[in-house]
Amino acid sequence: MKRLIVCLISALLLSSCLWEEPANDELEMYVERFLSYADAHGYNFRDEDHAVKVSFDDLDENKAGVCYMDTHHPIIIKFDSAYWRKISGNTNSDCLKENLVFHELGHGLLRRLHDNTVLDNGDWKSIMCGDELPDDRSSNINYRGMRRDYYIDELFDRHTEAPKWSYYVPDFSDQPFQRIYHPDLMSETSPFVSGSTSSFTTACGAEGFSITNTSSSDGLYAFNFTDFDTSEDFLLEMTLSSTAKEYGIVVGQCNPKSGNYNGHYVYLDTDRHCFIGELSCSFPFIDLYNSDISTSVNKVGIRRHADTLFYYINDQYFYLNDLNGLPQGGGYVCLSMAKRSKTVIRDFVIRHDSPTRRAGTCTIEELPCPPLRKSPYDR
Ligand SMILES: [Zn+2]
Repeated sequence: MKRLIVCLISALLLSSCLWEEPANDELEMYVERFLSYADAHGYNFRDEDHAVKVSFDDLDENKAGVCYMDTHHPIIIKFDSAYWRKISGNTNSDCLKENLVFHELGHGLLRRLHDNTVLDNGDWKSIMCGDELPDDRSSNINYRGMRRDYYIDELFDRHTEAPKWSYYVPDFSDQPFQRIYHPDLMSETSPFVSGSTSSFTTACGAEGFSITNTSSSDGLYAFNFTDFDTSEDFLLEMTLSSTAKEYGIVVGQCNPKSGNYNGHYVYLDTDRHCFIGELSCSFPFIDLYNSDISTSVNKVGIRRHADTLFYYINDQYFYLNDLNGLPQGGGYVCLSMAKRSKTVIRDFVIRHDSPTRRAGTCTIEELPCPPLRKSPYDR
């Protein structure tokens, strides 16, 4: 009986946590943060004329936030409780929450409308993007690391100069890397040792090495290397084709014993969208449209240089991103595959600035597949 009571109490506690509205105090904290930036940018919104009332609600039509700015005093801003819960507890929670609250206050206090201008590298010019977006892109904003300061400046001054990271094109020609891993993917013998899972099959053939996800759910297949150290500079290149609409590569760190893994990813789809993000974060950082993406075969490159990752499609550089603590050591490369799809690896090269370095042997294992889809929310 005692155990039953404990179970009932636990169940009640659990359900009350699940359904509890997020705390308004947290919203107030982000509003105060906005007001501090406003002070620093020469605005004064701390009087009664600029009163703002923020709260949570269940918003319709996948809205993450909404601002009633014209007919209300004080200005009323509501945030969707379900969205807030969804973005809580992840690595980039603070960035996403700040971004959303600042966007709504951008409408309410700065009187800004949506601005869907795109910077040279495909990033949005402003966190005020919204509504119908070009090329059917989602409104995810890479609002972190080196980008955050620019977006805050732009919010308060829309004439802020385009930041250097938006037009910088790296040149690594004076830093040639040497191949440290380049398996024969057409060999009769698999160059990889398969793990124990039964949800995928592999084969070598004239086109390359293929993996088929035979299960009814999406899969993440890790190539675990004994000696590929992701804390050092490297260049990873994979040439791929897939029967699925969407597929991707993850590079990072894995501890198979503890099941802990994280890493940065690039996803491509046949509509020429490219999603870039990190596994422990909610949603991709950015949804780019890239006309260099082929609908058949693509060569994807990810280069680590110091604390930055550089991304390439078919040998064309297109994006850079802060590592922000990319995992050290124990390197893996993953293929992300939709259910019942087949991906062919036509080439697989890892390069390093030390030719004596080796990536070591490689085993394939299946990892739990995290949700990587783009955010369906608007604001
Ligand atoms: Zn908006």
